[in-house]
Amino acid sequence: MTDLLKYLPSVRGRMEAQIPLSSMTYFHVGGNAEVFFEPADSDDLIHFLRKRPKSIPVTMLGAGSNVLIRDGGIPGVVIHLGNWFKRIFKEGTTFEVGAGVLVAGFAEKAAHQGVSGFEFLSTIPGTMGGSILMNAGCFGKEIKDILIEAEALDFQGRVHWMQAQELELSYRKSTIPKDWIIVRAWVRGNVLAPNLILKCAEELRTLRAAHQPEGYTAGSAFKNPEGKKAWEVIESAGFRGMRKGGACVSEKHTNFLMNVDQASAADIESLGEEIRAKVRQNTGINLEWEIVRLGTASPIVTDWGKMVQDKG
Ligand SMILES: Cc1cc2nc3c(=O)[nH]c(=O)nc-3n(C[C@H](O)[C@H](O)[C@H](O)COP(=O)(O)OP(=O)(O)OC[C@H]3O[C@@H](n4cnc5c(N)ncnc54)[C@H](O)[C@@H]3O)c2cc1C
Repeated sequence: MTDLLKYLPSVRGRMEAQIPLSSMTYFHVGGNAEVFFEPADSDDLIHFLRKRPKSIPVTMLGAGSNVLIRDGGIPGVVIHLGNWFKRIFKEGTTFEVGAGVLVAGFAEKAAHQGVSGFEFLSTIPGTMGGSILMNAGCFGKEIKDILIEAEALDFQGRVHWMQAQELELSYRKSTIPKDWIIVRAWVRGNVLAPNLILKCAEELRTLRAAHQPEGYTAGSAFKNPEGKKAWEVIESAGFRGMRKGGACVSEKHTNFLMNVDQASAADIESLGEEIRAKVRQNTGINLEWEIVRLGTASPIVTDWGKMVQDKG
């Protein structure tokens, strides 16, 4: 049980305690959000951020396609962007895209409107917000190539405008501070016939399906180390198909960890750590997690009343 709701400002959006998060992630594992908040709109989110006691932690969740939520869940408030943040506006070949929009759906919409350049997004299952933070990319293109500008709120509720070049987007990385929430973005493409764009997107999806496993996974577990492929070093370390509890290393793509039989988050994370240790021992390479791990291994019960009184 939690009494956290008592210490949070009233909001217009959905705010509920102890919401299971596993079905909101692609791994289908993990515990509860102590409090789950889906703001009604940007003003509701700003109001919440400004009024909340600052000692209460806040965590962003997008489509859950790049996260491993631990079994004890996420203490504090988990923010998820709902319908108001899923709007798309078009002006010429530039689109204003809400951070809650799924990028694959956006790419398809743009294709039907004759705007090309976003085809690579049709194979990525995340939201625009998560994809900017991770500088998501594939087939030689990444968010960096299409982003013009983004708007974010910090956890104090202040608005920030960022030109793409200020974000220093690089391989699965940005300099966006950890306590900022991306709320919308402007991306630009170029004119092309819809049938050509749709054909290209379809080809990329087919290519993708040929090389990636289907099932409960969060995509590539580790970033490619300098000059090497993560899947190759994992394969050389003998992990193809290796199981731990309900988790395994995909046979089809060894950089994919899978939940194949009611895995716990601990199964997946410890399998990942075993891989890292073995690869380090064999090669000296320090594999870096690409998947973002959130939350705690066991549930934490916090005396929020005391915390708020002591720390504000
Ligand atoms: C089958 C599969 C294939 C994939 N293929 C690719 C690929 O080819 N290329 C690639 O780059 N990625 C790939 N991914 C990973 C993933 O889809 C991307 O990283 C995606 O952009 C993450 O977006 P998300 O909304 O799911 O973010 P989440 O997984 O929900 O969150 C990821 C991180 O972003 C933060 N976050 C989410 N929304 C916001 C926001 N609005 N503001 C600030 N922070 C936020 C979260 O706190 C977390 O730290 C794949 C994943 C799967 C499951």
